[in-house]
Amino acid sequence: MIATADAVVVGSGAFGASVAYHLARRGVRVAVLERSGLASQTSPRAAGLSSQVRATPQLTKLAQRAVAKLAAFTEETGQPLRFTQSGALKIARTDHDAEQLAREVDRGRTAGVPIDFVSIAEARRRLPILGERGIVAITWSPTDCNVEPSELPIGYCRAAEKLGAVLLPHTPAEGFEIGARGVEGVRTPRGTIATRVIVDAAGAWARLVALGLGGSLPVVPTRHQLLITEPIAGVTPEFPIARVIDASVYVRHERGGLMLGGYEPDPMQIDPATLCPGFDVAELPLDIEVLWRLARSVSEQFPIFQDPAIRVAEHRGGLPTMTVDDRYLAGPLPGVAGAWVMSGCCVGGLSVSPALGEAMAEWIIDGAPGLDLSEIATARFAGRGLDEPELRERCRHAYATHYRAGGEAPASDAVR
Ligand SMILES: Cc1cc2nc3c(=O)[nH]c(=O)nc-3n(C[C@H](O)[C@H](O)[C@H](O)COP(=O)(O)OP(=O)(O)OC[C@H]3O[C@@H](n4cnc5c(N)ncnc54)[C@H](O)[C@@H]3O)c2cc1C
Repeated sequence: MIATADAVVVGSGAFGASVAYHLARRGVRVAVLERSGLASQTSPRAAGLSSQVRATPQLTKLAQRAVAKLAAFTEETGQPLRFTQSGALKIARTDHDAEQLAREVDRGRTAGVPIDFVSIAEARRRLPILGERGIVAITWSPTDCNVEPSELPIGYCRAAEKLGAVLLPHTPAEGFEIGARGVEGVRTPRGTIATRVIVDAAGAWARLVALGLGGSLPVVPTRHQLLITEPIAGVTPEFPIARVIDASVYVRHERGGLMLGGYEPDPMQIDPATLCPGFDVAELPLDIEVLWRLARSVSEQFPIFQDPAIRVAEHRGGLPTMTVDDRYLAGPLPGVAGAWVMSGCCVGGLSVSPALGEAMAEWIIDGAPGLDLSEIATARFAGRGLDEPELRERCRHAYATHYRAGGEAPASDAVR
C-alpha cells in the first residue's frame, strides 16, 4: 500500500480509469481506489454507443474528440478495444422530431460531423430489418461508432498501470482528510494515502463520496437496461446503430444478434445511501418487461422483436447517474480545494470518457481543460440547491426525454 500520491482517483469505471490514464501520461503519480473489482460496475454493462452531434457545438466537440480517441485507442494505449464504425440512423416518427433532426443536420454540418437525411429505402439498404411504416424522417451519420464496453475502462486501467499508476481494487475510499488548504488525504481500510488531489469518479456512489469530501452533487443514479438476443440469421456487424426518437429506443448488432435498450418514462432511481456496503451492480434487480414494452413501442420499425422465435441471450443493466439538464457534471467540487468530480454521465459516459478524462487531466494539471467544458462544469449548479423530490423528478424527466431534448434547451433554462 502506498503512503502518498500526487492524485487519487476514486472509482475505476470509464470516468475514473480514463482520467487516471491521462494523469499518468502527464507524469502524475496517481493511485486508483476501487471498492470492488476493477472496472466491474456500470461501465462494462453499457451498450457502447457513441453519437457525435450533440445539443451544442461545445458538447459536439467533446464527442468528436472522444470518437477520434476511441478509433485510435489501441494505437495510443497498447490495449485491445473492439471498435466498429457502424454509423447511426436516427428515426423521427413525428413532424416535431423531424424538425429536431433538421436542427441536428445543421449542427453536424457546422461542426464537420458527416450527417444527412436519407430515404427510407436507403436506410433499409443499410439496415434490412427496418420496417417502412410510421417513419417521417431519418438521418444517417456514418462516423458514429460502437465499442465493446468492458474493454475500455480496463484498458485504461492497464495502460495507466504501465505508466506507473497504482491500481488498488477492493480498496474503498472510506473517508477524507480535509485541512485548511483543502484535500490532504484519503482513508482506506489499508491505510491513509496523503494527497492534494482527489477525483470523485465513483459512479452511482459519487454523491456519497462528494458528501464525504464536504460537497454536494445533484445527481441521481438511475437504472438503465438492455437485452441482447441470440444470433439471428442475416444480422451482421455492418448493421448501423438505430435510434427511434419518440420511443427512446436504440437497436444495434451484437454477437450476431440484436441489442435493444431504451429509456422508460418512470425509471427506478436509487439512493446510494441505501445500498449495502458490499453492493455490486450485478445484484441490481432488473425488469425485462420494461424492454419488451419498449420493443412493442417500435413494432412497426422493428417487427423482428415481435417474432416469437426471438431468444434473449443476455439481459443486463446498471446505474448511470442523471443530472437535471441531461448533461455531464465535471470539474472542481465547489468549496473543497483539491477535490474534483466526474459524474452525471447521463447514460453517455462510456463513449465520451476518453475525451473527458483527457480534458479533466489538463484541467487538474494545467488549470484549464484543452476543450471548453463550461457547459458541463460543476459550477453551473453551485448555490442552486434543489430539494430531493424536485431533483429526482427533474432527473426522471431528463432520462425519459433523453432522445427528445438531447440537452437542446439552454442549460440555464433547464436548471432554473
Ligand atoms: C445498459 C446500459 C447502457 C449504456 N449505454 C451506453 C452507451 O451506449 N454509451 C455510453 O457512452 N454510455 C452508456 N451507458 C452509460 C455508461 O455505462 C456510464 O456512463 C459509464 O459507465 C459511467 O462510468 P463511471 O465510471 O461513472 O461508473 P462506474 O463504471 O460504475 O464506475 C464507478 C466506480 O466507482 C467505484 N466506487 C464507488 N464508490 C467508491 C469508493 N468509495 N471507493 C472506491 N471506489 C468506489 C465503483 O465500485 C465503480 O467501480 C450505459 C449504461 C447502461 C447501464
